[in-house]
Amino acid sequence: MYILKFGGTSMGDAETWQRVLNIISRYNHPFVIVSATARTTRKLLAAAEEALDNLGAAQKISAEIKNRHYTLVTNFLNNHPNAEATIEKECKSWIYQNINILDGHLAQIHDQQELNPRIKDAVASIGERLSSYLFARCGSAAGFPTHWVDATEVIRTNSDFEQASPQKDYIETQVQSLMNKIEPDHIPVMGGYYGQDNDGNITTLGFEGSDYSASLIGAALPAEAIEIWTDVSGIYTCDPRLISNAKPIPQLSFQEATELAYFGAKVLHPSTTKPASQKNIPIQVKNIFEPDEPGTRISHESISDGRVKAMTFKENCAVITVTSSQTVMGYEFLAGVFDILRWHHLSVDVVTTTEASVSIAIENGNQINEAAEQLNTYGSVDLQTEQGIISLVGCAKNDTQPLIHDVLENINAAPVNLISFSRSKGNLNIVMDKNHITSSVKSIHKMIFS
Ligand code: ADP
Ligand code: MG
Repeated sequence: MYILKFGGTSMGDAETWQRVLNIISRYNHPFVIVSATARTTRKLLAAAEEALDNLGAAQKISAEIKNRHYTLVTNFLNNHPNAEATIEKECKSWIYQNINILDGHLAQIHDQQELNPRIKDAVASIGERLSSYLFARCGSAAGFPTHWVDATEVIRTNSDFEQASPQKDYIETQVQSLMNKIEPDHIPVMGGYYGQDNDGNITTLGFEGSDYSASLIGAALPAEAIEIWTDVSGIYTCDPRLISNAKPIPQLSFQEATELAYFGAKVLHPSTTKPASQKNIPIQVKNIFEPDEPGTRISHESISDGRVKAMTFKENCAVITVTSSQTVMGYEFLAGVFDILRWHHLSVDVVTTTEASVSIAIENGNQINEAAEQLNTYGSVDLQTEQGIISLVGCAKNDTQPLIHDVLENINAAPVNLISFSRSKGNLNIVMDKNHITSSVKSIHKMIFS
């Protein structure tokens, strides 16, 4: 069985829905996972934020989401005039019910003047609840019998809202019993990104988490392959939106793909590779607009032609430097610093140390200021925001010295704030002021890949 995951752009409108169905028709009994329609998750979260101060503005966003889905269903069904009339009714009633739920959450946020992670997840999940059900019903209308799967039935997680960890054993049991229930000629269609904790609260797997859902289902079945269908033909040597001549990479190892995703290649959620690699299931990244292009295959194989495989960048980072107060012993110092980061769920991107200090590059977020304040216990703290990271992945194991030299020559004299290199892992990370990132990325990419 193949897992086919379609992202936000693929769910964008009636025309892309048809494309997606054409792709599905090439497979024998796939399991389909879909994201919310393009930009809906952002809109839902914006509505939740807005609800605190201005309920009217939040309800306006909710109405926009409702109208967009009504229009999508209407446009799709207009192209399928022979569909049963009940399908349109069911779809409209589903939209109505879910928008009612959304409006209930928005009113609650406003009345209680509180937007906590639990309610944020409940709001955010509505995007996938809408898209998955509507797409499943419209798929049936177009002649593909489907079975809508509510992700809360199968994706069980802990209660770390916004970044929940899945319970793999539970998911495996649920997926297998689900497969026994579904009629053999029906295609399961499930919304990605969300699940449920043991107390019945809706949780999410982190922003863009539908890729991760696809991999979890793939590992639970287990599937033959997991295909991530998106709007570009695979994982490129760099973000094609910035580098117009970036090229798709035919093959990556799980580890290389994970590094790229973690260091900013938005095309894949960083946790996606884990369940797949544990069960040795290849992942293929493919383009709905160019379905015959091979895309990128991610597997345990690691093929190197001696050159860097790809580069990525992040522009929303901060560097925290803690200089130890003399009263703290060296080993306690580092352990203490990292313990505070753990407590705030902050993942370290780059780290460098001296005898008495540690500098850590981290993605910027709400937690950073609180963490910086607590780090004061261990010494003086300097927080630099407006930082970015450039990462090179799959660097050749030999000849690293000329590579590092050439890279530093191509950052156009941008001051380097931190640098880390791992020869065994083939990774080079450079932290610099954010305003130097794009020009440096362009010239390094040209130097390596032209
Ligand atoms: P989806 O909605 O299908 O999940 P995403 O927007 O999450 O799609 O991911 C696809 C986008 O990722 C591409 O349009 C591209 O701009 C961006 N991207 C960033 N880095 C890379 C990269 N190295 N290779 C390919 N795409 C990348
Ligand atoms: Mg995505």
